[in-house]
Amino acid sequence: MAALFRRGDRKPTANSEKKLYLQPEGLVLVYNLVGQMYEISKLPPHADVCEWLATNTLSFFNQINTQYEVVSELCTASTCPTMSAGSITYEWQDGKNKRHSKLPAKEYIDSALTMIQKQLQDDSIFPTKFGYEFPPALFQIMKKIYRLYFHILAHLYHHHFHEYQLLRVQDCLNTVFLHFVYFVQEFQLLDSRELSPLEDFIQRLISLDKDLQKHPPQDDHDTDPVSASVVAKTQN
Ligand SMILES: [Zn+2]
Repeated sequence: MAALFRRGDRKPTANSEKKLYLQPEGLVLVYNLVGQMYEISKLPPHADVCEWLATNTLSFFNQINTQYEVVSELCTASTCPTMSAGSITYEWQDGKNKRHSKLPAKEYIDSALTMIQKQLQDDSIFPTKFGYEFPPALFQIMKKIYRLYFHILAHLYHHHFHEYQLLRVQDCLNTVFLHFVYFVQEFQLLDSRELSPLEDFIQRLISLDKDLQKHPPQDDHDTDPVSASVVAKTQN
């Protein structure tokens, strides 16, 4: 998919770049899923909370990995020499010696996804076999995983959003992110300080989700039939 871009399409990843995800063309959701992301984030009745967290952690891994694949070939050591989200730089912390290091975004993201995948396959953390149980530190492990998930999403929004727009898949990215936000808020997996690089966008996206539930766009407007945005409403 990334091969669809020509070199000339690539915008610089300057921190001063306009926040495209806050523009009307960026603020869109997959219309059929409006209102559903909040509902599917909540613990179903009688479900085990550890099982629910584990199931969703695996699901977010697949969804975020899929979103990252859209731009992975365009996120290189030259375009994104450090792992950042706007003016914020994330340093990689080595699990063994706790050393912090600045990595290119691609290396950071690949390291994060590899580490999380190993944990997801580890029966002492995410038990799938008889005789294994969830560890007492499960919640702490989850918080670290969701912190890394957010770093990846924040990088995609701050430095690659125009590529999603070019492919007209920003509604999919936004819908995955909205589900992520509802989920981490529901289970208090990230605090507001950690979400601050996208704080403004989170408020706007939640408002959009609520507005579209109350005021669905009409079928006869000339907007994308599968996406919905505030633009769709104001054009009627
Ligand atoms: Zn990048």
